[in-house]
Amino acid sequence: MTLSTFGSLAAIATTPDAIATLRPFCQTNNIPLYLPAAVASHTIDQPYEGALRDCISNIWPQYEGLIFGLAAGAVVRLIASLLKDKATDPAVVVIDPQGKFVVSLCGGHQGGGDRLARTLAPYWQAEAVITGATEALDLPAIDTLGQPWGWHKGAGDWTGVSAAIARRQTVEVIQEVGSTLWQEHLPPDHPFAFEPGTSTPQARVWISVTPRQFSANSTIPKVQWHPRVLWVGVGCERGTALALVEQAIRETLTQAQLAPEAIAGLATLDLKADEVAFQQFCKARNLPLCTFSSETLNDVAVPNPSEVVAQAVGTASVAEAAAIVASEHGRLLVQKQSFKELGQGGVTVAIALAEQEYTGRSGHLALVGMGPGALNQMTPAAQMAVVQADVIIGYGLYLELIQPLQRPGQIIEALPITQERERAERAVELAMQGLSVAVVSSGDCGIYGMAGLVLETLQTQGWDGKTPNIEVLPGITALQAAASRVGTPLMHDFCAISLSDLLTPWSVIEQRLKAAAQGDFVTALYNPRSHQRQIQIVTAQSIFLAHRNPATPVALVRSAYRADESMILTTLGEMLTHPIDMLTTVLIGNSNTRNYANWLITPRGYQVQAK
Ligand code: SAH
Repeated sequence: MTLSTFGSLAAIATTPDAIATLRPFCQTNNIPLYLPAAVASHTIDQPYEGALRDCISNIWPQYEGLIFGLAAGAVVRLIASLLKDKATDPAVVVIDPQGKFVVSLCGGHQGGGDRLARTLAPYWQAEAVITGATEALDLPAIDTLGQPWGWHKGAGDWTGVSAAIARRQTVEVIQEVGSTLWQEHLPPDHPFAFEPGTSTPQARVWISVTPRQFSANSTIPKVQWHPRVLWVGVGCERGTALALVEQAIRETLTQAQLAPEAIAGLATLDLKADEVAFQQFCKARNLPLCTFSSETLNDVAVPNPSEVVAQAVGTASVAEAAAIVASEHGRLLVQKQSFKELGQGGVTVAIALAEQEYTGRSGHLALVGMGPGALNQMTPAAQMAVVQADVIIGYGLYLELIQPLQRPGQIIEALPITQERERAERAVELAMQGLSVAVVSSGDCGIYGMAGLVLETLQTQGWDGKTPNIEVLPGITALQAAASRVGTPLMHDFCAISLSDLLTPWSVIEQRLKAAAQGDFVTALYNPRSHQRQIQIVTAQSIFLAHRNPATPVALVRSAYRADESMILTTLGEMLTHPIDMLTTVLIGNSNTRNYANWLITPRGYQVQAK
């Protein structure tokens, strides 16, 4: 699931050690493992006969990433003749047989190899080996900048601009369309200049819909990205030839100085959904064909309505109206153009500019529990989900704790602790756009964490349960973390109660406290006391005192597994004489819990112990 954002992946191994390292990983992540037929035995295994070299050339074009459990040297020899260029080569990652190093060998940037190596490393607690220059810069790589948003690359001197960035020379960025979120998340000392003319640039990046021809002897290196913001509205006579549709769209774009790479998709009337030329045009370019009913199209005000068209299909505009609707009522850049060719049919084309780019991606939301604080208390799966994400959203303190996992260029949105709802909405919004978003909570994300709010938000928005794709990654929750620091207090039936009455009426909390006290549950109190909420913990204590001995052991564990961790062992009667705050979990023992040599023990059974 986590790895789904990398497209299709395969692994290759030949020796027993490498197979043993890769097979469990492949099984967990549903990745085919290519290995010699003689040693194939598992469902995930893809046996090959004959030479490994032939197997690799067969699978090379099929996958977006290949994970080799072979010596790096052997991999270099095996793939040398298959490598074409870094824009189209797959990501090639090599892992040593012991799983100590995950090396991004080839296709590091554009193939996604660096991101893949970093994402895989936590699985084996391995070190990701990334040798590219931009890695050390803590900057997004210019040749992958637009990938999260599905931008297309135009012509340019990518190596030249990358080198200028690596030298920290001033790089002018002229961004006319597309998300500017990446600009807001650059480190303070970044080399980009966004205000034209403020300094002498030594390289330039255009982010626009205009195709620019850069002369070979241009003084500075330049590159261009094309966010997909152009919706091409089309109408046609039944059976119009593909060649005419292609010519019409090409000419319309050229006339208006618009780049074909900036096309988001084609838009037309629903009656035209089966028009072969439109379907073929879209299929060849991997573009969506969006269709709308005549009622929807007829409601749109257009510059060139046609009575004849209205009579025929029930809307006075197809091309213009469809472009406008598909662009979510963006600006009509090119009015209806008509093309007719004897024997080929006729087609109309209009182009509208959307405010937001079409990413062509379906979005991924990882709801991640990071555990109590220390990185080694976070599951490898959760770490992988954070590393692969385009965007990480969470409360600032938690994001600091997982800072070692952050990749250069990742968008980090730290929102204040009180804005959980806004955080959830923001995560859903970005995932709906097609980004891969990790929402990070401390402990477990589904225990007084962000996961529930995100799912509630999705439900409110009529989510279909699939898109964006959701993954919930559990973490060690505070009650487990706290318990582990003081012994085994949770050894018998236990419950968790949050004393925060911000989202739950106090009467409900009080009722649950009484039931837990009465039921002799070991009880973990979350959110026990804040500046505003002082009285709740006092009431909780008195409720428990009504049912339990004042000598009942109580643990106050603060900031478990963080730098400022502290533990206090006390009793139900004495607990309020010690500091308790929002970073504390209060563990109240049951009637059997005892404090032995400063370790809390809750017996597993209720039998009378032999004396
Ligand atoms: N999702 C979190 C809980 C969030 S509610 C989890 O599963 O742990 C916040 C409360 O959790 C805090 O008020 C405190 O009571 C408790 N808490 C969170 N982290 C803690 C830690 N490291 N040590 C002790 N208590 C912690």
